Amino acid sequence: MQRRKFLKNVGLGATAVAATPVMAKDHPSDLNSSKNKWVKPQIKPLTICTWNFHRATAKAWEVLQAGGKALDAVEQGVMIEEADLSNQTVGRGGRPDRDGFVTLDACIMDPKGNCGAVVYLKNIGHPIQVARKVMEETPHVMLAGEGAEQFAYEMGFKKENLLTPQSKAEWEAWKVTSQYKPIINIENHDTIGMLAIDQFGDISGACTTSGMAYKMAGRVGDSPLIGAGLFVDNEIGGATATGVGEEVVKTVGSFLIVELMRQGKSPQEACEEAVMRIVKKNREYANFQVGFIALNKAGETGAYCIHPGFSYSYYDQSGQENRPAASYTE
Ligand code: ASP
Repeated sequence: MQRRKFLKNVGLGATAVAATPVMAKDHPSDLNSSKNKWVKPQIKPLTICTWNFHRATAKAWEVLQAGGKALDAVEQGVMIEEADLSNQTVGRGGRPDRDGFVTLDACIMDPKGNCGAVVYLKNIGHPIQVARKVMEETPHVMLAGEGAEQFAYEMGFKKENLLTPQSKAEWEAWKVTSQYKPIINIENHDTIGMLAIDQFGDISGACTTSGMAYKMAGRVGDSPLIGAGLFVDNEIGGATATGVGEEVVKTVGSFLIVELMRQGKSPQEACEEAVMRIVKKNREYANFQVGFIALNKAGETGAYCIHPGFSYSYYDQSGQENRPAASYTE
């Protein structure tokens, strides 16, 4: 009962944007227009990202408010977390794989449906920038490992050590038992996936992570996979994910959400359906977390997750908010 009420509130939280074209006769500031002329819709930019990465949405909002494009907003927004050494799940300072290497995954998608991704990238602090270069400077969509790293150097990126003393010390401690447990503590996986809609009504998304801590060497999750960790269709909206990537990949979660929105579901309903697909197929869901956020062309947002504890940061002209996501389990 309470959850339903909460869901309702979450769904209503972001209905301020009217991206649907309105008839001139209905538009108060356009009384002289001919009856059948369509006027430009009022687009109110906004941005959201997984978890309460409020500094990231603040940066993205700065770009949007200055009239910038959604693509630049999401890139610059997630770069804040990539650069933050205290964030041990994204970019520099990320926790390493079980062999002690920090390997990063990221992808980006623009309103034209172009996308770029890097997987298993070492020694480069801003994988999202490299992903954008893949999108804009190559005929490819994804570069992996050494090839991605080599490409980054060619694009002018500098080699850097991504393993901080703190992440190294924790890894050394983990090695004492070396227990490989692919089940993530539900509070301990903080990929940043970000979506934005700009003043032109265009939507873009970005997603970046260091992946599961102490993963097997070579492991890649959902975050850099277009359709799984992120998907944008500028006609409809976008979605992005966090949590155990293997589960998101199996259901192609972000693409699924966008398609559900195309069929008429709200972002909230679509996120709920995507979580339900995972829960129905994997009875082990009690042991892992997955969270989705979504944004549609009208500027409505939604979020849903398996277990309580997930939230998303929201920023539009009326300010910034951390919005708790409703969950499947109480
Ligand atoms: N989705 C990321 C991965 O599986 C990790 C996370 O968001 O917790 O690599």
